[in-house]
Amino acid sequence: MKYDYLIIGAGISGAAAAYELAQFGSVVLIEAETAPGYHSTGRSAALYTPNFGGAIVRRLNQASGAFFKEPPAGFCEHPLLTPRGLLTVAAPGNEDGLTPLLNLAGTGDEIEKVTAARALELAPLLRPERVTAAAYERGVMDIDVAALHQGYLRGAKRRGGEVICSKRVESLGRPNGQWRVVAGDIVVNGRVIVNAAGAWAGQIGEMAGATSIALVPKRRTAIIVDPPSAVNVDAMPAIDYAGSDAYLKPDAGKIMASPGDQTPTEPQDARPEELDVAVLVDWLERETRVSVRRIAHSWAGLRSFVADETPVVGFDDTVLDFFWLAGQGGYGIMMAPALGRATADLIVSGSLPADLREGGIDESDLSPARLA
Ligand SMILES: Cc1cc2nc3c(=O)[nH]c(=O)nc-3n(C[C@H](O)[C@H](O)[C@H](O)COP(=O)(O)OP(=O)(O)OC[C@H]3O[C@@H](n4cnc5c(N)ncnc54)[C@H](O)[C@@H]3O)c2cc1C
Repeated sequence: MKYDYLIIGAGISGAAAAYELAQFGSVVLIEAETAPGYHSTGRSAALYTPNFGGAIVRRLNQASGAFFKEPPAGFCEHPLLTPRGLLTVAAPGNEDGLTPLLNLAGTGDEIEKVTAARALELAPLLRPERVTAAAYERGVMDIDVAALHQGYLRGAKRRGGEVICSKRVESLGRPNGQWRVVAGDIVVNGRVIVNAAGAWAGQIGEMAGATSIALVPKRRTAIIVDPPSAVNVDAMPAIDYAGSDAYLKPDAGKIMASPGDQTPTEPQDARPEELDVAVLVDWLERETRVSVRRIAHSWAGLRSFVADETPVVGFDDTVLDFFWLAGQGGYGIMMAPALGRATADLIVSGSLPADLREGGIDESDLSPARLA
């Protein structure tokens, strides 16, 4: 089997790259798990928060907006985004914590200061004594992650791409001027490798002999609990707290909450630690009117970062035809449309799509060479 583009990892990053690259040549996606989406992609908070992250990440988030709002015909059956809104709350003494967020407001980034009374109207589960000011972002949306992921996988197949699951890539080499990949009991050949292995991307880089990007997977925990009785949370915005990493959002009539932990860890099937859950429950009960009687569900996932917390998208400096698509951190779902297009254009033409360049992103901002 020989392909133009051999993509390792069928999470959202690999799936978006497969969809875009399949317009230019033969594509195969190789996935270790029995189904795509088992790791980070299936464990996110599913939020489109265009003002989240550093300057380059925010530009990538915003560059993905057009695809989310108007996906190509036949890509999905329902809208990919639904309005949610995000309220960032300041507790007494922490009002200045809203300033960095409010400073980001600009054309297309609606971030408005709201009174404590308005914040309580929007989010009746807040404790009045714990809110003195707040900022509201209308442009924050819920992402239908499954529809986005399936849309990419289905679209890639329609364009002739193949998806092979339950095959873990174990070794890579270039014996005759092309890549030869051993994955479980199969051998696959390809011209270009795209390393979209999420938390495992560092290991795949090592197998290929590529320059290290010093990728660090970080565990993040989440739980689902019941809201306070008589509070309908469906129309409530997501809630961040200035000066705290913890956050919560409505999730199908319940509350999803996370302590915003980021514990460095080895790549693995991440599980929640009891202590992180206990800290989260304590925080939730102090900051909101939620009283946790039962945890309906808890999970953990990995957000993988390089030192500057910006994704790594580009050819390796030393190993020929080895392309990095890694380090998506806590933004990989919302950046996927922009990064999928960036991957295809960088591989096929050597430059970023015009709209990304016009939006102020340079190839060197994403290149692995910046980390050397
Ligand atoms: C709690 C939490 C909340 C988050 N919230 C958000 C959010 O609200 N919005 C947002 O945009 N992002 C969010 N994220 C981040 C987002 O989930 C990730 O950035 C994104 O899913 C990364 O996708 P990926 O495809 O790169 O990685 P993954 O989904 O992990 O996919 C990588 C794939 O590679 C496969 N693989 C690894 N090694 C091999 C191998 N040797 N051979 C074959 N296959 C291999 C794995 O099995 C895996 O399926 C959140 C993450 C967490 C954990």
